[in-house]
Amino acid sequence: MILSILQYGDPILRAKGKRIEKIDDRIRELAVNMIETMHAVHGVGLAAQQIGEALQLTVLDVSQVEDRPSTMKLNGQNVDPVAEMPLVLINPEIELRGETEVGVEGCLSFPEISGDIERPKSVVARAQTLEGDNVEIEASGLLSRVIQHEFDHLYGILFIDRMNSAAKAALSSRLRRMQEETRRGKRIRPQEQQSLVTETTL
Ligand code: ZN
Repeated sequence: MILSILQYGDPILRAKGKRIEKIDDRIRELAVNMIETMHAVHGVGLAAQQIGEALQLTVLDVSQVEDRPSTMKLNGQNVDPVAEMPLVLINPEIELRGETEVGVEGCLSFPEISGDIERPKSVVARAQTLEGDNVEIEASGLLSRVIQHEFDHLYGILFIDRMNSAAKAALSSRLRRMQEETRRGKRIRPQEQQSLVTETTL
């Protein structure tokens, strides 16, 4: 089932996600619906907060983005990231590694907005899968960026918080307008949104 995505201004996007103690049918159904929703809008990641659930749950899929490669190690072994997608990360913890780099990001909760965000090049994420297994993922490239962006969502941190002040100032009137629309009850319907998103919406 394709879910509505919350737009900037909704307080749930600022909520810290609750730890998932038991991976039951509700969580499994939620994850499946989140993957379906992410694919419907050609996004590369979606966090539970974005569909209205403040939980430590995110889904990712970088397999359709050919011009921004990723590397991935799964439990210490080099793997083809494309073959491992989509990923479901439950209760993730991350460790940031390496120098920082600047890359363009968008966000499904911010239609038509993108910006340069500086983040560490590599990340190690430890999380549970939908099957309840513990996994360790080491990533660089786009996958590293997506993991960091989604991890932020799980703690109520949004990509605009990581923009430099000039970029944020330039967007301030659009952000205000978006908050106003959200207050009036606007939700993003993925079916209508498709034409607005780019390959870098996370
Ligand atoms: Zn996002």
